Amino acid sequence: MTKFNYSKRVPADGTDAVGAILKAAADPKIISFAGGLPAPELFPVKEMQAAVDQVFTKEGQEAMQYGAAKGVTALRELILEHVKEKEGVTGQLDNVMVTTGSEQVLDLVGKAFVDPGDTVLVEQPTYLCALDVFKSYGAKFVGVDMDEQGMKMDSLEEALQAHPETKLVYTVPNFQNPTGRTMAVERRQKLAELAEKYDVYVLEDNPYGEIRFAGHHVPAVKSFDKSGHVFYMSTFSKTLAPGFRLGWVVADQDVVNKLTVLKQSADLHTDNLAQYAVVEFLKHNDLDAHVKEISALYGKRKQLMADGIKQYFPAGVKYTDPEGGMFLWVEVPGVDDTVELFKECLNHNVAFVPGDPFFAGQPQPGAFRLNYSNAQEDQIKVGMKQLGEALQEAVNK
Ligand code: PMP
Repeated sequence: MTKFNYSKRVPADGTDAVGAILKAAADPKIISFAGGLPAPELFPVKEMQAAVDQVFTKEGQEAMQYGAAKGVTALRELILEHVKEKEGVTGQLDNVMVTTGSEQVLDLVGKAFVDPGDTVLVEQPTYLCALDVFKSYGAKFVGVDMDEQGMKMDSLEEALQAHPETKLVYTVPNFQNPTGRTMAVERRQKLAELAEKYDVYVLEDNPYGEIRFAGHHVPAVKSFDKSGHVFYMSTFSKTLAPGFRLGWVVADQDVVNKLTVLKQSADLHTDNLAQYAVVEFLKHNDLDAHVKEISALYGKRKQLMADGIKQYFPAGVKYTDPEGGMFLWVEVPGVDDTVELFKECLNHNVAFVPGDPFFAGQPQPGAFRLNYSNAQEDQIKVGMKQLGEALQEAVNK
């Protein structure tokens, strides 16, 4: 058999730990809280079908032609209006680029800013795919502690002083994946100030901010940015549908230009038909009303999950109580091996994602992520009971 001589970028162990977990959780008899999918029953299928029909009728040739690397102008204009209204993030057309999912922003920013050995500061825990992306460009990670108010700014400043070579700080400030935590407004302001003071860049990743079912909106870190050090990214994946693969970045014009060059090498441009269709959809539909409906459903599901934790989980278990998004985070004291715990839960026909891969450094034992957006209400009730039984067994061993 040929032994392929891959680049250093390719993970040496060749394993896909999370893929294996999701595969195990996909067994139909298992109630899975492991994935991270939106509720498909709320995808606006008919409305989108009408939008696509309209595009083919009115602009079929443009939609099927090659397009611009920065994206369809009408969509970039709508994104600018949207981020201004929702987040207080302002910019001109040259500050925004449409990407193939917001995942592509992670990749392009990694490519543009991370050289092998560069330090990237990340929340502890953080979005595991971001770790994979930055690692592929040779990043060294330093984890920054969090509490219920998000990344701790004193820990961040200590890390910045201890690692003056830091290039980038990555944060998911709203309903973070995996913890569901939201960064307090004072910390956001401080983060923008620290970025300028220490001349590091902040990549603010906000896929979940609009899916709020409790509490009050908190403005984006980018809205406090006076110097251009903050790059803001978001997506239509959670508000419309992930299958379109439509995300965006708002940043300094020079940065957007560099990211555009790199995007051209990656995929020339984002799917044109998807962009035209979303523009058409947004002209004729009320996105805010749609997002309200999504938020209400996820709020109901989150509550059922929290009720299940209170009712069935062993005493002493800690969990986050998110005001939005799709995930909550559980910590079970006394459990050392969360992967082993995952296997035991599979025997009880219920699944989660063990916390370990979300940590850049030492993982926190007994921590795991639960997803509530993609399970029906009756499944949540049954699944939480099963999970409670598995945890009771594990802690009483
Ligand atoms: N960032 C975070 C924190 C996410 O959870 C996700 C989706 N799981 C993404 C980025 C990527 O989303 P998309 O490419 O669908 O926009």
